[in-house]
Amino acid sequence: MTDRYATFAHSGAGRFLVKRLGLPDPPKLRRYGLGNEFGPVTLGGSGRLAEPTRHILDKLPTAGEGTSAVVFDASGIADSTGLGALYDFFHPVIRSVRPSGRVIVLGAPPELCTSAREATAQRALEGFVRSLGKEIGRGSTAQLVYVAPGAEEATESTLRFLLSGRSAYVSGQVIRIGPAAVDVPDDWDRPLVGKTAIVTGAARGIGAAIAGVLTREGAHVVCLDVPAAGEDLSRVANENKGTALQLDLTAEDAPRRLADFIATRHVHADVFVHNAGITRDKTLGKMSAEQWASVIDVNLASQERINDVLLAERLLGDNGRIVAVSSVSGIAGNRGQTNYATSKAGVIGLVQATAGAVAEHGLTINAVAPGFIETKMTAAMPMFLRESGRRLNSLAQGGLPVDVAETIAWLASPASGGVNGNVVRVCGQSLLGA
Ligand code: NAD
Repeated sequence: MTDRYATFAHSGAGRFLVKRLGLPDPPKLRRYGLGNEFGPVTLGGSGRLAEPTRHILDKLPTAGEGTSAVVFDASGIADSTGLGALYDFFHPVIRSVRPSGRVIVLGAPPELCTSAREATAQRALEGFVRSLGKEIGRGSTAQLVYVAPGAEEATESTLRFLLSGRSAYVSGQVIRIGPAAVDVPDDWDRPLVGKTAIVTGAARGIGAAIAGVLTREGAHVVCLDVPAAGEDLSRVANENKGTALQLDLTAEDAPRRLADFIATRHVHADVFVHNAGITRDKTLGKMSAEQWASVIDVNLASQERINDVLLAERLLGDNGRIVAVSSVSGIAGNRGQTNYATSKAGVIGLVQATAGAVAEHGLTINAVAPGFIETKMTAAMPMFLRESGRRLNSLAQGGLPVDVAETIAWLASPASGGVNGNVVRVCGQSLLGA
């Protein structure tokens, strides 16, 4: 699906008109590509995270000149008077950040702070980062990463993700990292070598992109979808040298069949991505009982049933990962989507309610919440709604399925063990529910 306005805005005449009329100017985002490393990173701040962060940054390949990222350790800010350090550090450098640059603020989780003053100052970082994300422009992004005491060494996969083109459509997010043993991959470009990943709803759209990115990262991917999508499913599985599994997730015997498939074919799976989802949009008064029930069943209840069997029968390997696809609708709500937003908010609830129990199994569970992503689903929206979805975010454009897939790949990495119970929006910092 092409964004005709963005194509026009990037043309010679378009650039002129966009500037003259003050129209939205969607920047070209720098996405993942080997040899597309980021340039020099400027590091500031003096909390407990500065030194471990410097070690990580020293390992990252850099290319080119100028500041392409600014990382600030704010974990040492103990009260509101210390917040001036943000101004002192960022004011002189912020305008020199290159297009598609990155700002990362590192902080201490407020809920773990020992005094109210410190918790207040650390919580204040959210407002700073979210505002910077909205004003920095030119395809640059800003994130806040709260690192728990003891998790200083568990940040590498997250910093690598946020500093790269893989996080092109993620902005204004607050990520929490807890202490965890980190499984450092031999090759950071292929951390999933030797792993098996199962992706539901993989026959098309975002699911097909997830299958592609997880394969690129080294995984053997089992692509799962309904029998009716069999032809597309085989194509996606073949393209990725993976395995196709035809299964309707709402069938009564689906968890059993899935468990038997994993146990007999793969012994265990390492990554399970709950991506399958449907919409049946209607305002509540016009919605049929079937429209309500089917959306809850596919988008939420099937995930619960599958997680139950994955955990009960220990079908995920050590350091396994569950990643669920929610939606910004599940955070902000959306007209005509009471069923869908209920199911997607439920997915967030499921992740948050089970993260503790999942961690006891040595696993993690996280969710991504896509905003406006260019797919067949959004192409079918009425023009006005589609255009507002595309433009009403800090990057003034829709995301691509690959943007969601890259975020899932970060969460699926064996090095992301410290990231558990998070909900990360892939929405270009959408103004909806911001
Ligand atoms: P899509 O409709 O293109 O693909 C969904 C896939 O899920 C289809 O291949 C479908 O056959 C499969 N599926 C549906 N019911 C199933 C079942 N019972 N068993 C097995 N497979 C089933 O949708 P998409 O746009 O690629 O969305 C993927 C996910 O991302 C969904 O969960 C969706 O809610 C979510 N999402 C999408 C957007 C967006 O902008 N496209 C935004 C937010 C969230």
